[in-house]
Amino acid sequence: MADENAVEFIDSIPDGEGARRATELFAKTYGYQPAGVWDAPGRVNLIGEHTDYNAGLCLPIALPHRTFIALAPRQDAQARVVSSINPGSVATAELEGLEAGGVKGWAAYPVGVAWAMRQAELPVQGFDAAFVSCVPLGSGLSSSAAMTCSTALALDDVYSLGYGSSDEGRVTLISMAIASENDMAGASTGGLDQNASMRCQAGKALLLDCKPGLTPLENVSQQDFDLAARGLELLVVDTCAPHQLNDGQYAARRATCEQAAAKLGVENLRQVADTIAASAGDDPSARRQGLQEALDRLPDPVEVKRVRHVVTEIWRVTDFVRAFAAGDMAESGRLFNASHDSLRDDYQVTVPELDLAVDTAREEGAYGARMTGGGFGGSIIALVDAGRSREIAQKIADRFARKGFNQPRALAAVAAKPAERVA
Ligand code: ADP
Ligand code: MG
Repeated sequence: MADENAVEFIDSIPDGEGARRATELFAKTYGYQPAGVWDAPGRVNLIGEHTDYNAGLCLPIALPHRTFIALAPRQDAQARVVSSINPGSVATAELEGLEAGGVKGWAAYPVGVAWAMRQAELPVQGFDAAFVSCVPLGSGLSSSAAMTCSTALALDDVYSLGYGSSDEGRVTLISMAIASENDMAGASTGGLDQNASMRCQAGKALLLDCKPGLTPLENVSQQDFDLAARGLELLVVDTCAPHQLNDGQYAARRATCEQAAAKLGVENLRQVADTIAASAGDDPSARRQGLQEALDRLPDPVEVKRVRHVVTEIWRVTDFVRAFAAGDMAESGRLFNASHDSLRDDYQVTVPELDLAVDTAREEGAYGARMTGGGFGGSIIALVDAGRSREIAQKIADRFARKGFNQPRALAAVAAKPAERVA
């Protein structure tokens, strides 16, 4: 009886097993052996949501949950892809003459990477590939970037492009992964996910600055994020909320931010955050006053809310980095909470499942909890004392059952390594 509703924890697949399973699927599908196996992680963003496309800051960690790709190059320009999710079905595409949006369905993600490389006149021909993944799809944990980044790294390797081995080179591969999602899959993305998958380090959170024009050396810094050493865990709960039609919503949020920036006479909302912080310093009331003065110049109440979220969220990223480094978990948790409340009330991208999961985690003693990813469904994260994740996840599952929501799933997030070759 007690186990009937026991919350499922999604395990990560160890490298060796991922390599074996991807190789097996490849050989079974195509009848020969792959040239190698590569993998790339999903991610959770700790804080800094909907800031990447506003030239702001964000703070992701890579998950131990990864997408494995077994791949071999081809002599011609054909691409064939298969996924363990539907192992009987092989999708094919011709790269020669392929145009943006020319591949439909999930195959657009990997094929789009080769397409973007060829658009950039890199010497890339066709490929056969087989994917095995334990990153939940469409849960705000970036299975799409795990797929495009693992593909980019594999193609880089088999076509000897030479970008995968340095951080600077990876930035080039990231741009191919972004182009694939934006232009081939038609899924608007701001760059956070791909940077996280390619550049996060084990035990670290990646402080990513999305201001345009920064060099790879300038736009990231690695922040210690060793939860175990602090007696903490990061619980991730995938709400499994029914998929919403969120594409239009994402585009609408972006458009509103751009319009508001234009009305404020700046290129992006980051400039608003920086200008206020430069004169107000760390004084919260001076910052609030500076922000209010900017908001007073916006006639539209919706723009006011959106801008208030983006500007305060950018500040919260640096505040969180500072609080966590100082070991101040109460403040770190408070910032998680403030981020969620802002996404709920001002950015309006939460759904009842996200809010209930967050409220439950807080009531059960989390230092703080917030939605992570784009919203409209997806996952929450909660900063909790070590050993408490399962119990809190179960409380969330029990409440979901009482509400008639879908059964949620959980996973344990440890800051993991970036995309790499595994076989
Ligand atoms: P998220 O990146 O948060 O998981 P997205 O909507 O951006 O959500 O990307 C999910 C999409 O990526 C899926 O609908 C599918 O098209 C594609 N995808 C990701 N991983 C896989 C996989 N292992 N097999 C097949 N398709 C995948
Ligand atoms: Mg995605």
